[in-house]
Amino acid sequence: MQGFNKYYPPDYDGEKHGSLNAYRGKHALGDRARKIDQGILIVRFELPFNIWCGTCNNHIGMGVRYNAEKKKIGNYYSTPIYSFRCKCHLCDGWFEIQTDPKNTRYVVTSGARQKDEDWDPEENGGFAVHDTDPNAGPVDPLAALEKTTAAKNYVEQVQVPRIEALQTLSDHYGTDPYSLSRKVRKRFREDKKVEQAKQTSDEKFKSTYGLPETLALAEDNEELRVEARDAFRKERAEAERESAKRRKVVTEVRLVPRATPKSAGAPGGKTTSAVSSLRARILQNTARSSATLAGPSRARPPDLKDVIRR
Ligand SMILES: [Zn+2]
Repeated sequence: MQGFNKYYPPDYDGEKHGSLNAYRGKHALGDRARKIDQGILIVRFELPFNIWCGTCNNHIGMGVRYNAEKKKIGNYYSTPIYSFRCKCHLCDGWFEIQTDPKNTRYVVTSGARQKDEDWDPEENGGFAVHDTDPNAGPVDPLAALEKTTAAKNYVEQVQVPRIEALQTLSDHYGTDPYSLSRKVRKRFREDKKVEQAKQTSDEKFKSTYGLPETLALAEDNEELRVEARDAFRKERAEAERESAKRRKVVTEVRLVPRATPKSAGAPGGKTTSAVSSLRARILQNTARSSATLAGPSRARPPDLKDVIRR
């Protein structure tokens, strides 16, 4: 027993014994210190969480108290790490729980299983905080230095030139807006002039040929020109062939009634003279009709087109 009272026996010598506990050979903490030579102190320990005993597999609720053997087993920096060895009250198994200063909590190290009841913020409508990556491992100062160097190089080699280029561009366009505006307006005026001239000529062309106002004219180019020329030549050749055919027919037709009243005796020489007189007459008619600007008469001579073209 501890020396609860202050009775000093007669053979007690303060200088020799130092204290009453020393005189009686007792520790100040009494029986709790019975394993103090092993560094173990018996303390009252209350389970900080629910566990299942590893020996009897019974559930032991949070808050159950044990006389635990408390022992310092190491340090986390300057903070001591303690282990608490408890004996299950339902069997004779022992389990051990340690402090974990790094994470400010207790952990079961042996003889039992801890019931995982950590507060989950996501489960409770909050947000999980992932400030540390568990897979990241310890921070490597060289890697960190490399990272910062790479970032610095990127800034120097990519971002700074880019910003300088943008600044130059901005200066180029921003320093003299008046002259730039003048340049642009001058060019716009020139373009407008060309555009207007083209429009005027297009309108003139349309009115000349009676084309609809809404007709879009194609841009003049060599290919179109060649195409149009070919088409024109083809058409003209066709027309010439047609008119030659008609001229022949008309000549024959006219030849017959004129030739009969005069003479039917010598068709050879008379036919030639009749043809030439007919031709002369037609030419005369044609000249008259084109001189008076009259439209083609209903009895248009077959070679009218030819004459006009020539
Ligand atoms: Zn047990």
